[in-house]
Amino acid sequence: ATAQIGVTGLAVMGANLARNLARNGYTVALHNRTQAKTDDLLAKHGDDGDFVRTETLEEFVQSLERPRRVLVMVKAGAPVDAVIEQLVPLLEEGDIIIDGGNSLYLDTIRREKDLSAKGLHFVGVGVSGGEEGALNGPSIMPGGSKESYESLGPMLEKISAKYDGEPCCAWIETDGAGHFVKMVHNGIEYSDMQVIGEAYDLLRSGAGIEPAEQAKIFTEWNTGQLNSFLIEITAEVLGHTDEKTGKPFVDVVVDAAGQKGTGRWTVIAGLELGSPVSGIAESVFARGLSSQRDQRAVAEKTLVAGTEDVDVPESFVDDVRQALYASKLVSYAQGLDMLNLAGKQYGWDLKLDRIASLWRAGCIIRAELLDDIMKAYAPGNEPANLLFAPAFAKAIGDAVPAWRRVVATAARLGIPTPVFSSSLAYYDGLRRDRLPAALTQGLRDLFGAHTYNRIDGEGTFHTLWGEDRREVEAVDTH
Ligand code: NDP
Repeated sequence: ATAQIGVTGLAVMGANLARNLARNGYTVALHNRTQAKTDDLLAKHGDDGDFVRTETLEEFVQSLERPRRVLVMVKAGAPVDAVIEQLVPLLEEGDIIIDGGNSLYLDTIRREKDLSAKGLHFVGVGVSGGEEGALNGPSIMPGGSKESYESLGPMLEKISAKYDGEPCCAWIETDGAGHFVKMVHNGIEYSDMQVIGEAYDLLRSGAGIEPAEQAKIFTEWNTGQLNSFLIEITAEVLGHTDEKTGKPFVDVVVDAAGQKGTGRWTVIAGLELGSPVSGIAESVFARGLSSQRDQRAVAEKTLVAGTEDVDVPESFVDDVRQALYASKLVSYAQGLDMLNLAGKQYGWDLKLDRIASLWRAGCIIRAELLDDIMKAYAPGNEPANLLFAPAFAKAIGDAVPAWRRVVATAARLGIPTPVFSSSLAYYDGLRRDRLPAALTQGLRDLFGAHTYNRIDGEGTFHTLWGEDRREVEAVDTH
């Protein structure tokens, strides 16, 4: 046995992680169901470092030092279970199976339980940064037992992205925590992209600014509060001209956004936890609406716009920037709040400062903002909501007048801004002394005897709506 770690599943992510490990001085055993992929990797990149070529899973497992570290990088879902099933009889107590794909956290919880009963460690690892990150340094979010992290952590930290020299990799918590955090990262990535899209649409359809000109605006925005990878690449995409037609690239791309599922999972988890992740949800819904192209074609011709002519002043551009920033803060606040709720539900002691620190480099949502978020959650200082941290309360307060102007203008112009608008509704809902939920409770009590609490005392009550409307103390059935 000579290899310190093995990678099975050598499609783009697995191959690049294997190369990253080899470049960092580790001996890496390679395996793929279809042998040709292993040989292709060796032919093209065998010089990256020390690789051990294997053909069968038996050979692969035998080539590994103990405790064995097996990184599984196959397609998420059933293939992960299939590979685990084949690995188990070949492994011995204390060995570690690592799933670095985008697995659903519930699957990871289940797999960890099954494998720990067999004496094996199972580590679900969230990896962000796409192909490029996998090769040059991703953001890494490992779950699993602390014991397994002692053996695995140093390797993962070594291959991870670095922010000011600090690795963007740290133990998150047990079982599915790493994949949960990665899932929320992806959910935030959805809303980050959606708010950028809304800003682009407002600047284009509201202020009449063409993509090439917008590229300059985004480049400028990238030097301030909004500094981030996604704003940087927005400038690149908007500035790109289609070779074939000479048109702006964005004008030749079909406007139907796809998804692979992590955004949807975040929203499902949010619904199950009772966590109002409206920014992420609206982003997933916006992709769904964009894909209903047939209905959109009918609606464009048949549904009345009822819009108004609005004079869009020059200051609108900066208003949009502020609305983008405020909406983005809300999505982060919602995503982090969801992590708190998930921690309670699944028994994870999630450290939000640590999680924010892992997202500062390597991953798709990397942004200056994350360093500030990390500081906002410094130990002993954890706000109940990101927006309550003094720096963010002030930042969003400064942006809110512009944000309101933008949402109002968008409504009058008929430009859809689902995340700008719903984030403002969340902000206002959070701020509200009294919400109409009191009326909802009244209605629920009338039609379903669902009971209510009173603002002036303890207890649970029901009004005898069908009788003399007397209020009676209700027996708590919960
Ligand atoms: P794919 O998701 O396309 O999976 C292909 C790999 O899975 C191949 O090696 C294939 O083997 C193997 N495979 C599929 N089914 C089986 C099976 N039943 N038994 C054994 N092997 C099987 O690869 P990617 O590299 O794109 O992604 C890997 C993981 O990383 C996924 O979970 C994906 O969601 C995630 N990912 C993460 C990204 C990120 O930014 N973090 C970006 C992209 C992906 P064969 O060659 O024999 O077909």
